[in-house]
Amino acid sequence: MKILIIGSGGREHALGVKLKENAKVTELFFATGNGGTAQIGTNIVASTIDELCDFAKSNSIDLTIVGSEDLLVAGIVDIFHENGLKIFGPHKEAAQLEGNKAFAKTFMQKYGVKTASYKTFTDYKEALNHLSEIHYPTVVKASGLAAGKGVIIAQNKQEAEKALHEIMQDKVFGDSGSEVLIEEFLEGVEASILSYYNGKEIVPFISAKDHKKIGEGETGLNTGGMGVVAPNPYVTGDVIEKFQKNILKPTLKGLVVENLQFSGVIFFGLMITKKGVYLLEYNLRMGDPETQAVLPLLESDLLTLTENAIDGKEMDAKWKNQHSCCVVMVSGGYPQGYKKGHLIQGLEYLDTTYFIAGAQEENNELRTSGGRVLNIVATATTAEEARKKAYEQVEKVHFVDSFYRKDIGDIT
Ligand code: ATP
Repeated sequence: MKILIIGSGGREHALGVKLKENAKVTELFFATGNGGTAQIGTNIVASTIDELCDFAKSNSIDLTIVGSEDLLVAGIVDIFHENGLKIFGPHKEAAQLEGNKAFAKTFMQKYGVKTASYKTFTDYKEALNHLSEIHYPTVVKASGLAAGKGVIIAQNKQEAEKALHEIMQDKVFGDSGSEVLIEEFLEGVEASILSYYNGKEIVPFISAKDHKKIGEGETGLNTGGMGVVAPNPYVTGDVIEKFQKNILKPTLKGLVVENLQFSGVIFFGLMITKKGVYLLEYNLRMGDPETQAVLPLLESDLLTLTENAIDGKEMDAKWKNQHSCCVVMVSGGYPQGYKKGHLIQGLEYLDTTYFIAGAQEENNELRTSGGRVLNIVATATTAEEARKKAYEQVEKVHFVDSFYRKDIGDIT
């Protein structure tokens, strides 16, 4: 079986490694992949939907899996289906649940999914006026996709005004900012729950905790993710119960009533607060770096699970009774400017899994090519052991200016 995985990060490398555990998988292709995916498959150069569709047709690809959101929102699933190609993910309409925050919030409100209160605006003056009527901090969001940068937590009115000006007047996110949401600020701890959806039922995966800021103790600038532990230590039985009742069930109902069923991933971004468990956002694809921490804990076969989801069959996800810890090593300077091309050494001495993100193979050597360079993942029977193991491995890997957070998995 030939599988095409679209994306070039640690998530795609992790997906490839897990899928390859099934002997039915004979060939893996990655568009465009990285130095790690090149070790388990073939990297190809194709980035537009048309190029990817042509590649899938001319190479008799049996299944395509899309890592990142842009192509889903642009309708890749619809085009692949029109061409008789098998692909795992939401069609264009459902992908709006990720690509259009105003659409997602309307959906949540209509079906009683517990979420922060909010208002949407397309008129700059009206949005400005609203700032006099609310409490601070508040959250200002560009409705469209903005690569994780479209959400601004404003501590006071001045900061909110600045955010609105940048989004609606300066158009720093282009059309993604033609509509904005001004949202109630929720205080709590975040949790990520990935799940598989077969069009009838949603099967939640083991929970995960991302660490988004560059600095220890969640300080400094936002990043794509500096590390993950799974399961998330804050996701208790009570949290799961609240998530099932107030988020998952109403979501499932809404998908049916709105006729938005699909087979693919639903990622629930949660905020656990004193007032209950809230849904911050849906993503309709696997998270990065959550995938790198979650998949090594999956006991079931990922390919079978994915095929069952596509065929609308029962999905039986079994989990190892273990914990995992993923530490992301980044280029010094990230998430701002950083140098590329540094030689990565020491990977051959690792006793645990690693997934490459921003590194490319050159003359049988791996050299850094991005901000987030690689993910070191360890699993063990306790969270503490997994954490210790992961950090022992991190010590073995070297490249110039490397940086990583030393507090992944610390409970504060
Ligand atoms: P983008 O669309 O730019 O890619 P995103 O999809 O990651 O952004 P969200 O997940 O909605 O956007 O928000 C990003 C982060 O902002 C959340 O992970 C959370 O830390 C914070 N955040 C969002 N909404 C709220 C809220 N209502 N209260 C507190 N924090 C919030």
